[in-house]
Amino acid sequence: MINILLLAPPAAGKGTQSELLEKQYGIMHIATGNLLREASIRNDIFGSNLREILKTGRLVSDEIVLELLNNKFHEVSSKGFLLDGFPRNINQAIELDKILKEANLKLDYVFFLDVDSSILEKRITGRRMCKTCGKIYNIYSFNNTNCLCGGELCQREDDTEEAFRIRYQTYLEATLPLVEYYQNHGILHKIDASLSIEEVNKEITSIIKKGDSND
Ligand code: AMP
Repeated sequence: MINILLLAPPAAGKGTQSELLEKQYGIMHIATGNLLREASIRNDIFGSNLREILKTGRLVSDEIVLELLNNKFHEVSSKGFLLDGFPRNINQAIELDKILKEANLKLDYVFFLDVDSSILEKRITGRRMCKTCGKIYNIYSFNNTNCLCGGELCQREDDTEEAFRIRYQTYLEATLPLVEYYQNHGILHKIDASLSIEEVNKEITSIIKKGDSND
C-alpha cells in the first residue's frame, strides 16, 4: 500500500502527476478540487454559492471540504490513495491526521512540487480541461479543441490571471506552511516541478522505489 500526498502551488502539475501515479500504482486519486467542481454543478443555492467561491480562487470552508472528503477514505483499496489539493491549510492537515488515524491509515510520502510563480502564470493561462473526463492539457503542447476521449476542452473559470493571483496568494499564506508541517513529520520530498512532466514523474517514482527497497 502506498499513500501519497501532493503539495503544490496552483498549476504546478498536481493533476497531471496524479493521473500518472494513479495509473502507475493503481491507487485511488482523491482530488478535492474535482469533488468541489462536481458538487458546484448542483442546481441549488449550495451549488451556486460554491461556484462563486471557486470562480474567485478563494478556499472553500474546511467544513464543506471535509464533508465531501470524509467518506472517501472508506473506499480506499489495499493499494492506497493519492491526495491532490488537500490539505490546503494547517487545520485541514490536523483533521487529515485524525481521519487517517481513525481509518487505520498513514501517509507515506508528501511530494512538494516546487515551481516559480512566473512559470505557473504561463501554465495556467494555457491550461484546458476535458468537460467529460477531466483530463488536463496545455495549448502550448496540445493544440486541439477536443480531448483524446472526444470530450470538449474548456478553460476553468478560475484559470484567469486575476483568480490566479488570489489562488497564489492564498497558497503562500495558508498552504505553504504545510511544507514545514510535513518536514517535521519526516515524510516531505521536494521536487523541482519546473522540469518536464516525464522528469517530475521520474523523480517521484524513483523516491518511491528507493523507499520500497528500504522496507
Ligand atoms: P484545485 O483543482 O486543486 O486547483 O482546486 C480548485 C479550487 O477548489 C481552489 O481554488 C479552491 O477554491 C477549492 N479547493 C480545492 N481543494 C480545497 C481545499 N482542500 N480546501 C479549500 N478549498 C479547496
